[in-house]
Amino acid sequence: MRADGRVINFSAGPGVLPPSVLEQVKADLPTLPGVGASALEVSHRGAWFEGVIAEAEANLRALLKIGDDHRVLFCQGGASMQFAMVPMNLLRDGATADLVVTGSWGAKAATEAARVGRARVAWTDDAESFVRVPTAEELLGALDPAAAYVHLTTNETIQGVEFPATPALPDEAVLAADHSSDFLSRPVDVARYGLLYAGAQKNAGPAGVTIVVIRDDVLSRIPDGLPTMLDYRTYAEHASMFNTPPVFAIYVVLLVTRWLRDEIGGLDAMAASNRAKADLLYDVIDGHPDVYRGHADRASRSVMNVTFRLPTPEDEGAFLAAAADEGMIELRGHRSVGGIRASLYNAMPVEGVEALADLMRRFAER
Ligand SMILES: *Cc1c(COP(=O)(O)O)cnc(C)c1O
Repeated sequence: MRADGRVINFSAGPGVLPPSVLEQVKADLPTLPGVGASALEVSHRGAWFEGVIAEAEANLRALLKIGDDHRVLFCQGGASMQFAMVPMNLLRDGATADLVVTGSWGAKAATEAARVGRARVAWTDDAESFVRVPTAEELLGALDPAAAYVHLTTNETIQGVEFPATPALPDEAVLAADHSSDFLSRPVDVARYGLLYAGAQKNAGPAGVTIVVIRDDVLSRIPDGLPTMLDYRTYAEHASMFNTPPVFAIYVVLLVTRWLRDEIGGLDAMAASNRAKADLLYDVIDGHPDVYRGHADRASRSVMNVTFRLPTPEDEGAFLAAAADEGMIELRGHRSVGGIRASLYNAMPVEGVEALADLMRRFAER
């Protein structure tokens, strides 16, 4: 525990939120000024929430430079529901989807797509336990030009493997990407995506809302007959309010977008800060190769989730205990891969990462 009673929270998700956002949430409870009730109690059809969702969309559009030919939708069901919704909406009868699998989440997306239609794992390094993304040549060589869409996971949260930039695809390919754990962490060329989605709870807000950005021509090709709530057009045609949206979660997303704009200064500044934070840890890993072994290949290292191992499970246990003593929590790697994982989402302050880097240096020396 630190002096202010807060820990240094390296949780992979739900993750740390900016202090000013939490303070604003607190200030708005139990009574929103001018409303007379809290964000937990008001109708989504009222003027207050209409303003919230409109500004949240406008801020996301400004931060990500989303053009007029893309819609911004607020869905529920997490990224996991998108694993099914994407093929239900984009994979027509007889067509095949190309899945690029660089980690556990992409593998889940592939499994779900195969339940809906014909899905093909176009590229994976599963045999090497997910340590890298494909090179540009490997990716282009692996894709089927006739595929309905290409799905990939820009940042694999569990393995800590990230595409350094949106990979180039042939012009006619429809890119559908899971951006859950690097959403808003850096600028993204949205124009190149048919669709991208992100569960909010890693970088954009609390659990409960999933942001989907979808291009109009992709929307227009959705087959009829889907269940209403699983059809992206329902969200597009009803401003994400066909049914009750997750009001509180969207309100916190709005506060996070304001923080990114006003306190951080936009996504270029956020990306530079995130890069600097990640480098602090990777420099210690590379400086002590006898103690720390990074999971991902250098060129595929994640800026958001830094994954590494120590020589033995006992060393890892001792490291986690030493971290907990200093108020650093949620550093245990995902149960499927073990080791250590430090998630450095947008709201993780550089001081938190410096504290961890310092502990890693001291731990390596003793
Ligand atoms: C966390 C995560 C998911 C799963 O998100 P849910 O909202 O729990 O369904 C999917 N993909 C990635 C890349 C994630 O980080």
